[in-house]
Amino acid sequence: MSYHYGDHLVICDRCGFRYRRSQVKKEWTGFMVCAKCFDVKHPQLDLKVRGDKVGVKDPRPDASSELTATSAYSSWEGPTV
Ligand SMILES: [Zn+2]
Repeated sequence: MSYHYGDHLVICDRCGFRYRRSQVKKEWTGFMVCAKCFDVKHPQLDLKVRGDKVGVKDPRPDASSELTATSAYSSWEGPTV
């Protein structure tokens, strides 16, 4: 192994083995890794996800509606014993 200018020894961030600088690449994680340890970024990590739609805040029944004005539960007196 002869010395080449700028081709110093580096340690692979994943396996810990020693390589020449020309033998390691920077991964998407920011690690400097050897060819054996290099992981391609999965495309699913770049998905753009839309957030959930926010519903109506503090909903209230419509007081003018016939269904809410005379509800079946409003005339209920409870169980007879
Ligand atoms: Zn490695």
